[in-house]
Parts: sequence; structure tokens; C-alpha cells
Amino acid sequence: MEDARRLVVCLLALTFPLLGAGEVRSSPRTIFGDGSRLAVLTRAHDVQMLSVVEAKRGYPVKLRGVVTYMDRFEGNLADAFIQDDTAGIFVFLQKSAVQLPVHTGQIVEVSGVSTPGDFSSCVANGQIRILGEGSMPKPKHLVYEELLGAKEDGRWTELEGVVRSGQIKTGRLFLNVATFGGTFLAIMPAYSKDWANTLVDSRVALRGVVAAIFNDRRQSVGFRLFVPDPSFVHIQEPAPANPFELEIAPTVAVGQFRPQSSLERRIRVRGVVTAVEPGVAVYLSDGQGNLEVQSAPFCPVKAGDVLDAVGFPGHVNGRPGLQDSICRRVKDSAKVEAVPVTADEVLPALIETDPSGYGLQAGKKYDATLVSIEGKLLQYSEGPNGYTLVLSAGKRTFSALMPSSGEVPRVETGSRIRLTGVCLVTFDPYRRGQYFRILLRVPGDVVVQERPPWWNLRKALWALCAFSFLSALTWILVLRSQVAQRTRQLHEISLLDPLTGAANRRHFDERLAAEYDRARRSVSPLSLLMVDIDHFKALNDSEGHPRGDAYLRQVVGILHTVVTRRQDLVARYGGEEFAVVLSDTPAEGARMLAEAIRMRVERLAIPNSGLPSGKVLSVSVGAATWLSSDEGSAADLVAEADRALYQAKSLGRNCTVTVEIGGQCELRSIVAGNYYSIIGPSRQG
Ligand code: GH3
Ligand code: MG
Ligand code: MG
Repeated sequence: MEDARRLVVCLLALTFPLLGAGEVRSSPRTIFGDGSRLAVLTRAHDVQMLSVVEAKRGYPVKLRGVVTYMDRFEGNLADAFIQDDTAGIFVFLQKSAVQLPVHTGQIVEVSGVSTPGDFSSCVANGQIRILGEGSMPKPKHLVYEELLGAKEDGRWTELEGVVRSGQIKTGRLFLNVATFGGTFLAIMPAYSKDWANTLVDSRVALRGVVAAIFNDRRQSVGFRLFVPDPSFVHIQEPAPANPFELEIAPTVAVGQFRPQSSLERRIRVRGVVTAVEPGVAVYLSDGQGNLEVQSAPFCPVKAGDVLDAVGFPGHVNGRPGLQDSICRRVKDSAKVEAVPVTADEVLPALIETDPSGYGLQAGKKYDATLVSIEGKLLQYSEGPNGYTLVLSAGKRTFSALMPSSGEVPRVETGSRIRLTGVCLVTFDPYRRGQYFRILLRVPGDVVVQERPPWWNLRKALWALCAFSFLSALTWILVLRSQVAQRTRQLHEISLLDPLTGAANRRHFDERLAAEYDRARRSVSPLSLLMVDIDHFKALNDSEGHPRGDAYLRQVVGILHTVVTRRQDLVARYGGEEFAVVLSDTPAEGARMLAEAIRMRVERLAIPNSGLPSGKVLSVSVGAATWLSSDEGSAADLVAEADRALYQAKSLGRNCTVTVEIGGQCELRSIVAGNYYSIIGPSRQG
């Protein structure tokens, strides 16, 4: 029998080395589905020592111990801590156990199964059998660091401290207690109504169960103390009945060295509020020094109020301050003079303030002091916490905050402004000031000293850009109009005869075709005159080409004076022959114009030196009129006019022959003899 038992112990030791050196577990044993036998754990320590994997197997547990904590929740749930002489252990109780009149101090038997728990292995599915009344275990005295390590998780212990503050959540009192080493939370499911008056600022000894606070990777990040009820709170030094009757301490007393230092109790300071950062802190000055008073909720105060603040001395944002404070306004409208400073005085270069180079003094002199400081506004922005100004002064950049309650007058960036507010330095982990900000109070704390010059680089650049753009635009427009003008000129030139300024042959052809179409559409007559200078060769030969050219221009001048309608066209058809397109002109009109041309040339009375004397410069004209009922073409009209001109030449020159095309049949009215004698001069040759 003994051998068999040894064998089981050896197997257990091999399988679960974490369980300890072959711990002998008491019978009876449970046989599970996989056939393995699991020993019944009868000591709290053995349960605690199970690894997560082991605890998950659900070891049967049967413990005897004293109830150190019992907490019932809604929905028939309850937790308890049970402590035997090996350890304290957490137990999830079954519903049936919740109904039982279990309370702290009772000796009970707990049976259940092991479970990994959230931080350390514990007991689930717990059933309780009350064995009788007992006494609480002797509390273990542990130091803060031991508690942080969570080695004593579940242990009944005693801790001394000063209650700093408290609040009630979900029917439990949560006390914030300061002890040597740090602060912790004490949780009490039962408490007295006037706990705030009796406990806050009391020096107390608390007995309760230590329980680790852990993260989701089962790591301990702190601890709490579960205190069953007020009977486990022993007040060693009560809080003063009225904290506002404490003797007033100077602000500089906060954090000053005191040889008989014990756990700090509340002190009372009186000072003038220099600035308020709503929901964060209030800054006080009492003439000797400055203090940040941290609290929530805070009594409503404003800059200028005289305030009594009662709180625990400590460090707030890297400076001496009061924590967990309460306050009372004594009176309002007191004045504190702002200290004029420069940005370099607030945060001098480290080496200048501390020759050792550590710069430990840097930034401490004016920290939390009401100052008056000047700078150039770099930026202005609005956020949920108020308005922020960013300023530069010397080589430093600093900011200023106007809490949302105050309005900041709109100041142009680049302005030189003077600010009045509390200077708040931010320190690095080596306690060296890194940068600072100014906490403003009222709109009057921002005073513009000098507006930025009207003309600045940015505006200059803008103006330059605008000027360049306009210049480029103007230049483009001028170029465009010049190009258009030149194009027009080129176009006109391309349509003109360079010698005489009359339209050239190409222009003539285009216009005649267009007028022909138009006449056809509008069923209107179209006339064409062909004007040829008589015996021009002789004149040319005798007077030379330059003179001949001048005569050509003179004849064109006459053509232009006779033909004045816009839609008519005078063109040089070739050599000394000209064509005149007369739109919407019947034969009679054409004849009259032809005669007018002929007569005006004759009237110039330019002697043709190449001919026998008495002969003057003259022209012959062939006029053709198309009555638009014909199916012919513009070329036919030209041919007819040419033929008429030829006939005029053959009739002796200096005369007009007209021809009409159209109607039922082509009507040639070459009334050479009559015409000749009627409208021409005396017969020549
Ligand atoms: P007709 O009465 O039969 O028309 O005789 P004409 O001499 O005028 O006719 P012809 O066709 O024999 O001669 C035309 C002359 O016009 C020839 C040429 O000397 C002259 N001529 C043609 N073009 C120009 C020109 O551009 N400038 C000058 N100065 N003379 C030109
Ligand atoms: Mg001629
Ligand atoms: Mg000719």
C-alpha cells in the first residue's frame, strides 16, 4: 500500500513539476474521463501553486479555513477569500452558498474545483459548510513593494496610511490611501455614512485581503485591499474636525524638508488665485511663494479671489502642490503684481544657470508665478480647451492658453504683444525645464504693443505674383491683338494688288463667284465692267514704265471715286485692264457707271505722248449684266464683258459697249453704231 502511494506521488511529481517537490496529497482521489487520477487539494497554497494548464484540469479542492472576506453581488453571485495556515485563496461561490449566512471570521469547509482565475489559480464552483465561529487570522505586516509584487495575493494583512480621498461606486466605498511607498485603493462593501468626515485625512490602520490588480496578460500592475467592514479600520489619528480651522501654512511649506517627517497630513494655505485652469488646477500666490492646487471637483473660483485650500502636500505636474484638495473662498478682488520677465529669464540656457551643466535650476524660478512677458505672435488657434497663442521671444518659442471661459481679442500674427498670466514650466525626467506656457485669465491679459508692418514678405510675394500675372496677361493680350492686326493686314495684302491698291485677281475671282451665287439666290442682276486703257503700250514706251505705273494708279483712283458702294469691287484684272464687280446692278446702272469712268479718265486730259498729238489717255469699257435667270457661270459673265470690251476696242476705243445676258434668250445689245455715237466722243480711227 505504501509502495503504491509512493508511485502515485512520483508520477505526480514527474507530470507536474510545478506542483512542488512530490507534495503528498491526501486521499480520496478523483478519476477523470481521460483516466488520470487527480489528487484532492486540501491546502490553499497548493491551489495557488497550480499552473494555468494544471488549474484548468479542475483539481478537486477541499479546504478548511477562516472566511476573511465575503462580497455578495446582484444575481446571486458571491466571492469570498478563505485563508488557512498556508495562504489565502479566492473562491467563486455557488448559488447555494450565497444564501448561507456566511460572514468573516467563521471557520468553514470549502469544496470546489481549481480554476486558473484571472491572475492566480483559485477555486471555482465553491460550496461552503459552516463549521463554527472562529477568529480572524493574525494580519501579516508587509511593505508596499512586497504588496506590489503580488506574492501575498489573497493574504489577510494590515497596512497603515492616511486616507486622501474616497468615493462611492456600485454600493462600495473606494478609499484612496497614501502609505510609505505609494498610494493604494481600499474597497469596503460596508461603510459608515459620514466616512468623508471621519476618514479623509485620518491616519488609519486598515486590515483586509490583499488582491492583485492585473492586466489581460495575467501581470500584476498593483494591488487593492478588500476591507470587509468599518470594524477593520482603526483610526490612529483622527482628521481635524474642521479642516478650514487648521493653522494657515505658508505655500513654501509644501515640500520643505522636515526632520520628523511622517506620512503627510492635510495642510491649509491661504493665497490669492493667480489663474484657473478649469477642471485641472488653481494657482495660488501668498506673497512668499506660489502653489498649484489640484482638485476635482473644485469650488468655483476666479483669478483675484482669496482662497483657503486644504489638501495633501505633494507634487503636481513637477512642482510642489496640493493634492486631493478642498477649498473655500475667503473674499474676492485681491491683487497680485505680475513679475515682468523675458522668455530667456524664464528658461535660461542650461549652462548659464548651473555651471555643472545639469541645469537643475533651469526654469524653476518663475514656475507657477504670475508674470508679464512680451513676445511676437506666430500663431493663433482655437481648440476645445480654449485659445492658444504661439509666440516667439529671442530664441525661445512659448505658448499661451486662454481657457474656454475667456475671449482672446483677435490679434494679427506678427504683432508684438504683452501677456499677463501664470508661467507654467514643463520639466524633463531630470527636473530640467524644457519649455513653458502662460496661463491667461481675462481678455485684458493680452495687450498689443505693436502691430505688424502693413507690408510684409508674404504680401510682397503676393503682390509680385499678381503683378507678374497681370503683366503676362497684358502682354499676351497685346501680342494677340498685334498678331490679329498683322494677320488682318497680311490677309488684306494677300487680296490687294501691290502696285495700284486695287483688289488682285484672286480676290476678284472669289468675290465674283460669291456675288454670282448671291445674285442667283436673290434673283437680282449682277454687272461686270472690264476697263482697259487705250494704247497704253505706246504711252508706256514713250514715257517709261514708272510713269506708266503712275497712270495706272491714277486710273484706279478714278475707279474708286466712281465705284463707292461697299459691296462693289474694283480689281486689277491684269496689266492695264481693270474689272469692276457691281452687285445688284442692272444694265442701265452698269452703263452709267461705265460711262462715268470713261468720261472721268478722258477729262484728266493726259496727253498720250506715244500717239499723234491731241490724243489723251482714255479707257474702253465692256459692260456685261447678268439677269440671274440664266444657268451659266461667273466665267460666262467675264467672257461676255471681255467680248464687249473687245467690241469697244474695235469700235475705235474710248467708248462703252454693254451686253445683257438673261431673260428668255440672250439679248445682245451691241448697239455699236448708236451707242458709239450717243455716248462716245467723235469716232477715232
Ligand atoms: P489697246 O488700246 O489695244 O489696249 O492697246 P494697248 O497698248 O493698251 O494694249 P497692249 O495689250 O498691246 O499693251 C498693254 C501694255 O500695258 C503693255 C505694257 O507695256 C503695259 N503694261 C502692262 N502692265 C503694266 C504695268 O504694270 N505697268 C506699266 N507701266 N505698264 C504696263
Ligand atoms: Mg490697253
Ligand atoms: Mg489690255
